[in-house]
Amino acid sequence: MAKIILTADRAVFTDYHKADALGFGLCLPYRFIPEMVEYHLLAPKIPTEGLRAKFAPYALCKVEASLIAAGFSRRDVLITPPHMLTKAVDRDTEMVGVHVLDPKGLAPVSWTMKVVSGGGKSCTEFEFEKLIRVVKSLKEKYRFKVIVGGPGAWQLRGYEDEYGIDVLFEGESELTFPMIVKKLLDGEDVPRRVRGESVPLGRIPPIVTPSRNGQVQVTRGCPRRCQFCSPTMWAFRSIPLDAIVKEVEFNLKNGIRSIGLVTEDVLLYGAHGLELNPDAVKKLFKVVTDLARRWEVPGKIGFSHISCASALVLKDTVRYISDILGLSDDEPSFPQIGLESGSPRLLAKYFRGKVYPWRPEDWPDMVVESSKLFNDSYMYPCYTYIIGFPDATPKDYVATTELIDRLKDEGIKGWVWPLLLIPMGGTLIEKKATFPKLPKLPKEAIDCLVAGMELSYEGIRSLAPKAIRVKNPLLSKLLGSLLSLALKAMKASMNEIRKDPSVIANIYSKIDIRSTRGFAKAVLPIVVKGGLRTE
Ligand code: SF4
Repeated sequence: MAKIILTADRAVFTDYHKADALGFGLCLPYRFIPEMVEYHLLAPKIPTEGLRAKFAPYALCKVEASLIAAGFSRRDVLITPPHMLTKAVDRDTEMVGVHVLDPKGLAPVSWTMKVVSGGGKSCTEFEFEKLIRVVKSLKEKYRFKVIVGGPGAWQLRGYEDEYGIDVLFEGESELTFPMIVKKLLDGEDVPRRVRGESVPLGRIPPIVTPSRNGQVQVTRGCPRRCQFCSPTMWAFRSIPLDAIVKEVEFNLKNGIRSIGLVTEDVLLYGAHGLELNPDAVKKLFKVVTDLARRWEVPGKIGFSHISCASALVLKDTVRYISDILGLSDDEPSFPQIGLESGSPRLLAKYFRGKVYPWRPEDWPDMVVESSKLFNDSYMYPCYTYIIGFPDATPKDYVATTELIDRLKDEGIKGWVWPLLLIPMGGTLIEKKATFPKLPKLPKEAIDCLVAGMELSYEGIRSLAPKAIRVKNPLLSKLLGSLLSLALKAMKASMNEIRKDPSVIANIYSKIDIRSTRGFAKAVLPIVVKGGLRTE
């Protein structure tokens, strides 16, 4: 069997029923997510051909491609989902590579949900621990090496012995990862922690396993240098169009029926630093849209992120993208966008590049103006903002609340999610900040947090059926019922937290509907009434 097995935990190695937004549900403490909901609705199993996954998370596909480009054969390398791992590993296995996104539940969404709901392991952490226990016991039997890497690897610093990790790998994989694997397989000494070096564009090989939900990376890194961000620590590059086309076509030829462009800001495609290149962006969308038409791809081409500043520089390009993708109020797109704060003071200090080419004091107006542009172009933003900058004052929080109120008054369609600041490993802010604690935050911070939740509540109520489309009618009905339940809980909790945040420790921390009994008691009355009711 294969020498090198690549895998990830169930919260990562799934297609979220083709609705990536469902992945955010796995950031909740697992006591809030009944088993059947997690495994059947949020994180279904990925199908296999024998032991090999039919498709895989994009990052694992890239790691596999880099190993093959470095001289390993396809037979040497096997991407397998976690439920097949015990079958895939045998005495031929020399190395298991585990891709991690959020293994300790410290990513911004998980940590925030944990704090506002009273603690407990997130599903992401729960699933990682489940997987790594299996890897560790297999390692004791077969004596292979374990490398763990990915955007969440920083969370595991210091846990190497506990989890049986031989090498913790951070950074880019293409050049360094295959070299480390070869050394390990040759029995050479390798440092316990390795940082992958930046990869020149010509040395990023195309995937050879189809990627989950048709994801294909179009830019890597970001030149805006926000201090709390990890992708910005990587050199900014735009993937050449022919390489993008090759991966999209490969996916389509291999049965993937969707296209998702992975980027930190799709309008940065082809840019030189922060000098934008509208022709390159338009060409990207034209070429990919032509491919989608030729292959009769149902649904819209997705793109993960966009930014306010780029959109205001390239207004025409935003409209062009909307037109060529055929966006409409029935089929809008939901890009993620960092709003971060309404305070120009905090912006100037922590994310100055985000406003370029304007000034920090322009930021609140820019957010409102670009939101109108997005909405007019049928892009309904999923904004996030940060609570807990190290020296944030009540005045800074009030500025953010006022900005959220302006978005509300303008009737902007979308979400505005509060996230607690995370001093992520490898970021510029890592050593300057600590994890914020709710009881230590001023009242203005709590008001600011609730203001975003309130606007997001309205966004979910009106937009969820468009944002999360699950084909299976039974699952869709169940999802609608759960959403209805979650909205009721969210509405009640917003009022309660605003009145008295100690409700989190005294009441929310004790809720547990993981068991079938607890789940049935909470959900069945709503399921019986049925349908996606979001009022
Ligand atoms: S704009 Fe976004 S991706 Fe770029 S540095 Fe800032 S947070 Fe990171």
